[in-house]
Amino acid sequence: LGGFDHPVCVGLEVAGEGKALPKASGKPDDIFENDGQITKRPVRALTLSALAPKRGEHLWDIGGGTGSISIEWLMCDPTLTATTIEPREDRADRIRRNADTLGQDRLQVVHGTAPTALDGLGFPDVVFIGGGLSTELLNWLHAALPVGTRLVANAVTLESEALLAQWHEKLGGELLRIELAQASALGPRRGWKSAYPVVQWSVIL
Ligand code: SAH
Repeated sequence: LGGFDHPVCVGLEVAGEGKALPKASGKPDDIFENDGQITKRPVRALTLSALAPKRGEHLWDIGGGTGSISIEWLMCDPTLTATTIEPREDRADRIRRNADTLGQDRLQVVHGTAPTALDGLGFPDVVFIGGGLSTELLNWLHAALPVGTRLVANAVTLESEALLAQWHEKLGGELLRIELAQASALGPRRGWKSAYPVVQWSVIL
């Protein structure tokens, strides 16, 4: 991880061994090669907490993007495995590169679109939806996955948020709204720059 100098890691250098990665979930964004479409560190930390990996579990990461969610899942424990589904070929390739760079070889990258691309995959213990949220996808998952499968979905648009509100009413679970703001320059002074709110639904099917 050459040139790895994120503030989170300052002070974590091990003498003679160069830079070290933090152990906690919510690792610095810049360890993942990305085009800006990445679940940012604080939301990623909350997402990994909601996914709550347990020994030996398998994750489906629908809408892989950079693969950051899958890769952090795998980093939690060497017994964990993951499959990520990503329709954009450049992003699917990038996920592979990120997994290689970060030494995570227990990731299967499926270049395809959910729900079609889910057909024939081995069932997961946990599903994360970070992209491609739709009625069709939720219906597919609800019909196909065994009772007891955990599902976490993040929504940013009003349309996908409305969908999560409907399904929360139908199936219960926990609906969390994550609103974060970061101090940034405002003229010569500073102001709070709000990120888009993220609505997160967690449910046991
Ligand atoms: N969690 C990711 C970011 C996800 S961005 C990260 O941290 O990197 C959402 C992704 O969902 C995009 O890459 C987009 O190409 C993908 N996507 C959109 N529709 C999809 C679908 N129907 N099935 C799978 N992926 C989809």
